[in-house]
Amino acid sequence: MIVTLAPGADRQAVQRALAARGQWVGAVEHGPTSVHLVLASHSTPAVADDLALIDGVAAVSSPVSPHPRLDAQAPVVSVAGVPFGGARPVLIAGPCAVESADQIGRLAAAVADHGGSFLRGGAFKPRTSPYAFCGHGAPAVGWLRAAADAHGLRVVTEVLAEADVGWVADHADLIQVGSRNMTNFALLRSVGRTGRPVLLKRAMAATIEEWLLAAEHLLSGGAAGVVLCERGIRGFDGSTRNVLDLGAVAVLRARGLPVMVDPSHAAGRRDLILPLARAALAAGASGLVIEVHDRPEDALSDGPQALHPRDLAALWDRTHDA
Ligand code: PEP
Ligand code: MN
Repeated sequence: MIVTLAPGADRQAVQRALAARGQWVGAVEHGPTSVHLVLASHSTPAVADDLALIDGVAAVSSPVSPHPRLDAQAPVVSVAGVPFGGARPVLIAGPCAVESADQIGRLAAAVADHGGSFLRGGAFKPRTSPYAFCGHGAPAVGWLRAAADAHGLRVVTEVLAEADVGWVADHADLIQVGSRNMTNFALLRSVGRTGRPVLLKRAMAATIEEWLLAAEHLLSGGAAGVVLCERGIRGFDGSTRNVLDLGAVAVLRARGLPVMVDPSHAAGRRDLILPLARAALAAGASGLVIEVHDRPEDALSDGPQALHPRDLAALWDRTHDA
């Protein structure tokens, strides 16, 4: 429910009257000529009629949608001059993790040569095991930025902790929020406050609606735009790492939202990346996120799903009309 205050109303008094009726204000929004109190709970029409009688309340209405900012987002989100959701698919590629300045420099050259617009690579890695390689942290963000700049690429990288948001925002064109953090609402707010565009990966067991609400958290916090990324959800069959949900891609494209697809984390196997990439673009994906490594056998994370850069060239040529 949204309670619109009458001009000159005493907001504190209205909030006290609402609280006396068991109603709590979740957010306060300032429109051009009015103030709206967004209530934390849904109410019945009878309750709405009662709230409308409170002194200082001009109107009580229902929100049009639970994610109005996302619904109002333009269909094309431009990030550092690259349009996501337009006619041309976007290629984001790079290693799972930024392992050294040298490694990311070599891979940046390959990504630029093979049609990539964005260089990816994790500096802060979310790992299921605490003993796995967790990334080189802040210095790796600098190596990633330098490598991208040397080859005319933009940067996307993941932020894991609120404490690192400023550093990542200063170096990345697009801030990634990973699957494991899609419902970390404090992090979403903190990333939103940077006012930067965000690549929001779907959590492993999130419904589409939960994913859209996470995007709304970013936009209500101040994010410049949200590009969604389908990376596979949990299934019961271990043949692939995750189940790539192309139905979700079609659903979101029908709503005019930009949706990237990450077949690397979906498949977990390099031999399946080409067919899944082709299927993703056929379903309307706004582009692809592909993990590459020139020495996959030595990769510190996700080697089995890393494509060799020469295979990236073949993949990109075969998946879209150049
Ligand atoms: C990644 O893109 O590096 C990553 C960890 O992916 P996800 O959050 O989809 O697991
Ligand atoms: Mn990875």
